[in-house]
Amino acid sequence: MSERTELEELGEFGLIDHLTKNIEHYQPSTIKGVGDDAAVIDRGDHYELVSTDMLIEGVHFDMSYTPLKHLGYKAIAVNVSDICAMNGNATQVTVGIAVSNRFPVEALEELYEGMLLACKAYEVDLVGGDTTTSLSGLMISVTAIGKVEKEKIAYRSGAKENDLICVSGDLGAAYIGLQILEREKSVWKENPKIQPDLEGHDYVLERFLKPEARVDINALLAQNNIVPTSMIDISDGLASEILHLCKNGKVGAKIYEEKIPVDAAVVSQCSDFNLEPSVCALNGGEDYELLFTAKQSDFEKINQLTEIKTIGHITDASEGVCLVYPKGEEIFIKAQGWKAF
Ligand code: ADP
Ligand code: MG
Repeated sequence: MSERTELEELGEFGLIDHLTKNIEHYQPSTIKGVGDDAAVIDRGDHYELVSTDMLIEGVHFDMSYTPLKHLGYKAIAVNVSDICAMNGNATQVTVGIAVSNRFPVEALEELYEGMLLACKAYEVDLVGGDTTTSLSGLMISVTAIGKVEKEKIAYRSGAKENDLICVSGDLGAAYIGLQILEREKSVWKENPKIQPDLEGHDYVLERFLKPEARVDINALLAQNNIVPTSMIDISDGLASEILHLCKNGKVGAKIYEEKIPVDAAVVSQCSDFNLEPSVCALNGGEDYELLFTAKQSDFEKINQLTEIKTIGHITDASEGVCLVYPKGEEIFIKAQGWKAF
């Protein structure tokens, strides 16, 4: 009798591990395959980086409150972000779309307007793709290509004991943006006459609907001669990403709760939703900030960069991955980011 295993038994990461465990490489130029933010290919004097991410209607975006221009921008930005997470520069993208006939041409024009805006912002060239019909909604798959100097590459696996743990920008805003959109959607569903009230929430809404890849952070690190020892972009929440860095580096971590950067708008909205700001930062996703580790000797340099905050340090694996509260209480960090299945 043939076996049947449900997807939820494996979960997203379990499924990827399962499907990719028999992969063999035939090319000596393949330096890193599955398991990081991008694949790494040896091109002689530099490494080439390749990464793919998909956005699916009903899973990653809700057409009832997602402007297509923003969605196009986001589709490019999140892929460029994966190249940033290797400390590289994105250079080209290809775009695959599957569309149902529910969408008029004008809608797809808007989507492309957003994608081209992002291409301009990040100076990446859209060089190809594929277009097909879909029976259920819109799907966008983007592949980003980039490059990095060999000695500047940052894998997920390089963190060492005593390294600093650093994060760019602020966290949790995209999650709060999503909560506001979902709240207004449910109000509107109950009474379509009530217009959504999105006044005064520009920052958190933009963080969710139109995130930026932090190419400026890569540039800032390069200007200051800082090479991260490990790096990942925050797509699933700080908790999930620090666990990735620690698992790959076979290390532990201490993160100090009061050091996690959260915008004032997030703090004030959190009280409306009865949420702890640090919980939003840890478990909300889609901020697309960069989480990285750096050598202790870079502390002074990093300390002067206002866009980067040091939130903790790497420990021995035996200490686990801990969140330390201001009064000294410690808890183990568990990932509660988005579950794909
Ligand atoms: P990210 O959050 O950076 O997009 P993912 O969690 O999507 O990373 O993927 C983790 C790793 O698994 C990446 O290296 C990615 O290339 C690889 N991967 C994901 N899905 C597949 C797949 N279907 N086949 C092969 N590799 C995959
Ligand atoms: Mg991915």
